[in-house]
Amino acid sequence: MEFEPVIGLEVHAQLKTRTKIFCNCSTEFGAPPNTHTCPVCLGMPGVLPVLNKKVVEYTLRMALATNCKINRESRFARKNYFYPDLPKGYQISQYELPIAYGGYVDIEVNGTKNRIGITRIHMEEDAGKLTHDPLRPVSKVDFNRTGVPLIEIVSEPDLKSPQATGAYLRQLRSIVRYIGISDGNLEEGSFRCDANVSIRPKGSDTFGTRTELKNINSFKFVEKALQYEINRQMEIVQDGGPIIQETRLWDTVNNRTTSMRSKEEAHDYRYFPDPDLLPLVIDDDWIETVRKSLPELPDQKKERFINVYDLPAYDAEVLTASRELADYFEACINAFPKPKPVSNWLMGTLLGYLNANQLTIEQSPISAVHLAQLLELANSGVISGKIAKTVFEDMAKSGRPPKEIVAQKGLVQVSDAAAIEEIVAKVLKNSAEEVAAYKNGKTKLLGFFVGRVMQETKGKANPRIVNELLRKKLDS
Ligand code: ADP
Ligand code: MG
Ligand code: ZN
Repeated sequence: MEFEPVIGLEVHAQLKTRTKIFCNCSTEFGAPPNTHTCPVCLGMPGVLPVLNKKVVEYTLRMALATNCKINRESRFARKNYFYPDLPKGYQISQYELPIAYGGYVDIEVNGTKNRIGITRIHMEEDAGKLTHDPLRPVSKVDFNRTGVPLIEIVSEPDLKSPQATGAYLRQLRSIVRYIGISDGNLEEGSFRCDANVSIRPKGSDTFGTRTELKNINSFKFVEKALQYEINRQMEIVQDGGPIIQETRLWDTVNNRTTSMRSKEEAHDYRYFPDPDLLPLVIDDDWIETVRKSLPELPDQKKERFINVYDLPAYDAEVLTASRELADYFEACINAFPKPKPVSNWLMGTLLGYLNANQLTIEQSPISAVHLAQLLELANSGVISGKIAKTVFEDMAKSGRPPKEIVAQKGLVQVSDAAAIEEIVAKVLKNSAEEVAAYKNGKTKLLGFFVGRVMQETKGKANPRIVNELLRKKLDS
């Protein structure tokens, strides 16, 4: 029997607000333990939470960017459980009435568009952080992260493969970064993902029993863990066994998932409305103000790059992966309005350099204006395409403008036919054997002669003129 996987994600994104969700403590990362705390986020008795308006605004941004409907009245709820990193004994979250529901994002997998439903988006507070001493029976708790705002984005079980799941996660991350509400960093924990997965016979319209993979911290691991889990479930079903509903963990050392807890051991959180917080009321004006403040989103930008710059879909996809890269591209286009050549240089040479040196586009040693100047120098024939690559390398190291490098190193392309002709004559004179072979029909040797002339001129001779002159001499 053929099976198909069914996947739904719960994604947590940490919001980039200056202060926590229910108190004035700073959300800054990396402060000494327990220095960003107060009676509210430490869960002292007798204090009251006050909702941070910025958190609601950021959540609205995400909700509108993912085509969600907004509940004009939503509620905060207490999710009750005990753990040492949770000083109140409950987490403030949203349950029956989340702020947003019923949205979608579009992804592309192997050139096919897929619409992934967003079930709901709600706000909640983060817990603290435990560290366990490896040598002594001691655990330490840091409450700086307690009360840092999160949103949870729950998808419909619409994802059909690990690859689609990766595409969906990248799309969500791209959106949170475009709209400036989260760093979206999986590795650093500001973007976390639980993946629910089941299998069913192909074409079936009922769902199988699912397992949940918790807290996977890289795109690579999400896809690997899902693939492992799909294979594991298929083997069980083919052997006639039942899938047990449980939470499993990805073991990065042994590349497999292991059981963490079964449904029987699942928590009963005894959710109930938080009596300390009023219902959250959002009016149409606020929604419209937020809607108007949204920037162009990744999909819209991609479409525009295809339509306005006439770029292939692949180029548009790569260039709009981040807002900063897209801005860099457009700054180049402003100074050198040839989209496809700019795209080629950006995707090939510049991104290649940045990746090799683990730099982001914001850290690029070459500014967009300088890159455009370099392309203009090559385009107008002042330097050859080959020399342009060496100038690029110098720019990357020194950060200097290309004109300065070209002038200082004397790299201006030689297009003076008389000067090149002299060198051509010299090369042919010194290669009598090859010339004879060429005249006997080994015309492939043309490349050899071109190479020699370029060597003599340190790559500065205009290759078109070199080719012309060589042909003229050899074929006469
Ligand atoms: P819970 O409250 O236990 O977290 P939900 O019903 O809210 O469960 O679902 C959580 C996530 O699991 C959602 O993203 C949903 O799409 C996904 N999901 C639900 N049922 C299945 C299933 N049978 N297979 C795969 N994913 C599922
Ligand atoms: Mg869940
Ligand atoms: Zn506080």
